[in-house]
Amino acid sequence: MQIILADKAGFCFGVQRAINTAFKAGGEGKVHCLGPLIHNPQEVARLRDAGVDTVNDFSGLPAGDSLIIRSHGVPPDILLRAREKGLNIIDLTCPFVAKAQKHAESLSKEGYQVVVVGEKQHPEVQSIVGYAGENAVIIETPDEIETMRFAGKIGVVAQTTQSYGNFSEIVLRLLRLSKELKVFNTICSSTKERQDAAKVLASQVDVMIVVGGRNSANTGRLVSLCRESGKPTYHVEVADELLPEWFSGAERVGVTAGASTPGWVIEAILARLRTIG
Ligand code: SF4
Repeated sequence: MQIILADKAGFCFGVQRAINTAFKAGGEGKVHCLGPLIHNPQEVARLRDAGVDTVNDFSGLPAGDSLIIRSHGVPPDILLRAREKGLNIIDLTCPFVAKAQKHAESLSKEGYQVVVVGEKQHPEVQSIVGYAGENAVIIETPDEIETMRFAGKIGVVAQTTQSYGNFSEIVLRLLRLSKELKVFNTICSSTKERQDAAKVLASQVDVMIVVGGRNSANTGRLVSLCRESGKPTYHVEVADELLPEWFSGAERVGVTAGASTPGWVIEAILARLRTIG
């Protein structure tokens, strides 16, 4: 059984930067992360062992402790409250997310109604919306637009992990509803590179394995893209989940991984596949 790893898979620039900084900070004092640093439970457990715990609320933390803002960013009011509490902020908002926040803010100031294309509950989307003004809306799918009304000019930004297909379809439909539409394509190139590489690989193999946290948006999107190719696709977090029967008769197996999947998890998956093969 031939096992092929996608050309682009695993940690992206923003996640790698956040992980490196967090591990370093964990050895230097009391450090907390506001929400899991990445959507990968195994890596979050390693971080905890390295001195970085996860908190969902910072109101009980003493002044002087460090608080990590993860790559998804946070709305500006949360940042302000944390600073006012005297916490030492380690802001690891990915520069690409910060750019989307900035575009949302400038669109709102210029009088556009801001549309954020993305998942409503995703922390990155929530962080962008925090900069987008009071009448901002989040749109997840093109069909939602049918029931919506827009008063004036519309400004659009995307969650960085959106697929181009969904984003462009939503932009096209908004174009029909608006006299003035301003669009910032804030989809991150790492996301597109991983999606493209996964699609190419899925077309060349018999079975696809997608590795990553079940709560990781970009991993979930890789799973959908691989399934759209028609190939049997399995989403796993750890090597123990791989079942030999998935590969019966398969000559070529493709492996890809979300941007929040650590290299050591991918290596363990490849090793287990070699054993099965
Ligand atoms: S996927 Fe892109 S935007 Fe998101 S953390 Fe990685 S580099 Fe940053």
